[in-house]
Amino acid sequence: MESSESISMESNHIKDENIAKDVNAAASLSTFYLNIISKPSINLALPSPKLIILDLNGTLCFRKKTRSKNKNYRIILRPFINEFINYLFDNYLVMIWSTSRPENVDKMVSLIFGDQKEKLIAVWARDKFGFTKEEYERDTKAIKNLDIIWKALNTQTESPDNLILDPTNTILIDDSRYKAQLQPFNAIHPRGFNRERVGKGGDSELTTIIKYLEVVKYQSNVAAYMKDHPFTDQEQLIS
Ligand SMILES: [Mg+2]
Repeated sequence: MESSESISMESNHIKDENIAKDVNAAASLSTFYLNIISKPSINLALPSPKLIILDLNGTLCFRKKTRSKNKNYRIILRPFINEFINYLFDNYLVMIWSTSRPENVDKMVSLIFGDQKEKLIAVWARDKFGFTKEEYERDTKAIKNLDIIWKALNTQTESPDNLILDPTNTILIDDSRYKAQLQPFNAIHPRGFNRERVGKGGDSELTTIIKYLEVVKYQSNVAAYMKDHPFTDQEQLIS
């Protein structure tokens, strides 16, 4: 009895990063996806249009609970956030997809993007995961299935830049590997911007991502490229 208890205790403490190691093996990738990642990426002479989907908390900022009783948060912006945003808007289409509630997403987006927030092609929050009311209220683990984005944006009467979005031209930037498990090679996973990293200082993940995206923007197939050259490798080379 004792051993099964300790196993279940332990599984409650499995960190997101540990789940991630098995993600590629565990998640069943669609035939459509496997087909696309099997086609080699070509280095283009000029960048092709691409979409970046940004996570907020842990990626661009840290929502720190304050000690006050009314559940307030203080939002700490990640270092180099302005350089990062300017770079993205100059080179990519950009949208937000966060698991936070719409009202909190609005606050974070205003603080992070200021006047530039109107350049975002979409801002998606917790209401875009197809949760039941109960799941929405609970701390339900969410997977960011890019199929939902592709279906929604590709059927808009005016899709951005007449671009048909798919795994060859879409990049999710999210500190959580768990959330990217259905399209794992379309994701960049920076180290989570959390209490520890805020305390340590010297965080330059966003500038490392810019260097990586400078290469990725010339790729004809980002999923195929990122499968063979994941961001985490790049990160180790630079740091
Ligand atoms: Mg996050």
